[in-house]
Order: sequence, then structure tokens, then C-alpha cells
Amino acid sequence: MQEVKLKRDGHTHTHYCLHASGELAEEYVRKAIEKGFTMYSFTEHLPLPESFLASFPYTEETKNELALLDDDLDGYFREMLALKKKYKDRIQLLIGLEIDYLPTETAYLRMMLKEYGSFLEDGLLSVHILEGTAGFRCVDLDLADFEEGLIGYYGSYEKTQLAYYRAVKEALMADLGLYKPKRISHLTLCHKFQHYFHQAGKTGEKVQAAVMDLLLYMKEHGYSLDVNMAGLFKEYCREPYPAPWILQAAKQLKIPLVYGSDAHAVEQVGRAYDDYLRLIRESGNCS
Ligand SMILES: [Zn+2]
Ligand SMILES: [Zn+2]
Repeated sequence: MQEVKLKRDGHTHTHYCLHASGELAEEYVRKAIEKGFTMYSFTEHLPLPESFLASFPYTEETKNELALLDDDLDGYFREMLALKKKYKDRIQLLIGLEIDYLPTETAYLRMMLKEYGSFLEDGLLSVHILEGTAGFRCVDLDLADFEEGLIGYYGSYEKTQLAYYRAVKEALMADLGLYKPKRISHLTLCHKFQHYFHQAGKTGEKVQAAVMDLLLYMKEHGYSLDVNMAGLFKEYCREPYPAPWILQAAKQLKIPLVYGSDAHAVEQVGRAYDDYLRLIRESGNCS
């Protein structure tokens, strides 16, 4: 019998996400099947806690978009479970969450992971939010916001990156309980606007050292990495997350790498999978 080759999309969103297209999760699944995927993870954003949102310096509209539809986490699990059953003969669906690490909200994260952890079959640990001007600020909302809220606060693009990697290290080290996700999303999210700041390919020694420290920690503690192709499609990023030099280092350390489309729309499911395969092959001079 011929061995079925694993083709996996490990990072996707659904209609439960208010900044996604609104297309139904089932449509995403059908697209994945059509593209020959054999394994597919739903990794919807865990809603941010009310108390955090109350002091988050953004408009109500932006804050709403950062939440899950009506905070209906139970509905999400129920609906994804029904899809898992419906499509079980065609694709292996894993039900997961993308957990945003927030240093001030570890109690909330621990509580939610305790409550829903036993339903989780996959998960991502992300940093999208950092301390910045006037409180916590988004890393990847838009260019002007990144410049004002973070570069303005830390003083330079490099210092912002170092702050980001410090937050990722904190996330890695945080005690979030038994069900803490073990895969790190889009490690170079700060690169989203790198071309605008003429910083592409200019990685200083301090940033290199910070990243290597993270990779060694991940290796030692059994973490894997999301190879997130969304960055390739961003106007000022034009490369996947993490950057290719980091992928190469991760591969040499034998940190497991998992493709992720980070689809927020049906047409994005499985995007640039061939580029991912090529990248992985090219990074592979040791295995
Ligand atoms: Zn999202
Ligand atoms: Zn995501």
C-alpha cells in the first residue's frame, strides 16, 4: 500500500474571528481538501480578557476585531468538533487555539487553558502585543501604529525587536499550566514593516544573539516553530515568519517546523506551500 504523505496546515482561522473574512470554517476545510492537505488545525484566537481590553488604547472597533465572535468559545469548540466528525474520512482536523501571551494576564491564560485545555488538540503561542506608548500596543496592526506605539517608545527598530524577543522569552518561560501550547507563531512578526524602515536583512549582533537564545530554549524545552507564510504576502515584509536565516538555524537545531498559512480567508488556505517546501529543502544542509 502506498504511504499517504502528510500535508499539514497548522495555523488557520475561522468565521469566529472578527478580523477574518467571515467565510465559514467549513469552506476553509473544503479548500484544504481540494489542495490535498491531510491534516489541518483550527487555531482561532483566544479572546482577550475584558479587563485588558478596557485599558487597551484603541478604538472600540479595533478592540472588537481582536475578540472572538461574541466570545463564543463553547460554540467554536462545538462547531469545529462537528466538522471534525463530518470530514473524518477526508482530512484530519485538529481543534486548537492561538494564545496571545500577555505578561499581565497570565492568571486569565492559566484559567482559560485549564478550562478548555482538555479539548485542545493543537495550539499556538503568540506575541502580538507589547508594552509601548500609552500602554500595551499591537505589533502588527498597521505601520503608523507600529511606528508611533512601539518604535517611538523603544527608540529604534532594533530596540523594538529586542523587546519583542524578550516578550517571547517570557512567554516561553511562563507557567501557563499543563495545556500551554508548544508551538511559537510568527517569531519575526516585527519584520512585517521591515522594508519600510529599510531594515530587511540587517540583523545586528544583539538581535542575532536574542534569537539564538530563544531557539536554544525552544530546543531544550520541546517547542516547535510555526513557519508562517503570511509574511510573504505583506507589502513591507516579503518573507515568511520566521526569516529564512532563523529557519536555517532552527533546522540545524532540529526544532520541529510546521507549515502555517495563517489563513483569515478561504483563498489563503495552504498559500505558498510550495515556497515553504523549497525553503525547508534549502535550509537543510545538515539533515
Ligand atoms: Zn488573526
Ligand atoms: Zn493566527
